[in-house]
Amino acid sequence: MTELTAVRPDAGTVIFNLPDYRGLDAEILAFGQRRIHVESTAEAGCPSCGVIGARRHSRRRQRIRDILVAGPVEVLWSKYRYFCDEALCARKTFVESTPQVPRRARSTRRLRDALVSAVINSGRAAAEAAAAHGVSWWLVQDALNQAATQLPDVDRLRPRMLGIDEHRFRSVRFFKDPETNQWKRYEPWMATIVDLDTGQVLGIVDGRDSKGVGAWLFARPLTWRLGVQVVAIDPSAAFRKALRMWLPRTAVSVDAFHLVKLANDALTGVRQRLSQEVRGRRRGPRTRPGPIGACCCAPATASRRPGWSASPMSSARMTPPGSCRQPGR
Ligand SMILES: [Zn+2]
Repeated sequence: MTELTAVRPDAGTVIFNLPDYRGLDAEILAFGQRRIHVESTAEAGCPSCGVIGARRHSRRRQRIRDILVAGPVEVLWSKYRYFCDEALCARKTFVESTPQVPRRARSTRRLRDALVSAVINSGRAAAEAAAAHGVSWWLVQDALNQAATQLPDVDRLRPRMLGIDEHRFRSVRFFKDPETNQWKRYEPWMATIVDLDTGQVLGIVDGRDSKGVGAWLFARPLTWRLGVQVVAIDPSAAFRKALRMWLPRTAVSVDAFHLVKLANDALTGVRQRLSQEVRGRRRGPRTRPGPIGACCCAPATASRRPGWSASPMSSARMTPPGSCRQPGR
């Protein structure tokens, strides 16, 4: 017979399933919202000396944001402050924290992981992920920023194919140079280097010129650079310059998005040129309405745009001069 070595959790705690927490109570509010009260089951250690707190000082309730559990749930954490019983510790009291809700955090780690996964793994926009989880766009962006800064040790990886592209992460800003007292335009660009096999972000550098990407490649070991076989970039001369300098033997290709865009732009240019040559004009009226009282059969050359020529077919349909029968003429 198997016997449990711990206290069996109640049904609410099992369904809520937040590690290191147990449910105290649950209630339904006025408009059907659900609220659940939880407390921590983990031992609280002093952040300065590590001694486990045994005496409670006080308690307060903190609202934390969490994932949807069969719909939105408001989570209230009964959070305790403990005395630190270590005589040599300068910290007299401390507030408990858990791996799911570290110090000064207001959302659970599983919520932040779900937001990052929704954007990175599922390819959803930050605003869409925020709406789906009932949180603000800023929380999603903060979780993404935190995940981006926790980059792996790039030099231990052996990527075969790299992708480099630029991204403007905010709108254009103007700032005043204190030395020259002149306003200067600042475009906040950054370049991202990813492993095309895994989709993992390897590095983010400031700007979109050859210096940033070149310095990042220069910082990699020689064996790392020799292992790269293909780099996909947009048609950027700056990236191309950095690759010629630091990855001279690596094949360079244009990524699919920019390749299709270039083909579409070229096709549009050919269509516009042929349309102009065959039809002699673009869409729209050949002539503008003349002034009041002017003869409709008067030459309309002044109203034509410069460089446009009328086709013979359209000229044949023009009214012969003097053939109009406007009253009073
Ligand atoms: Zn302490």
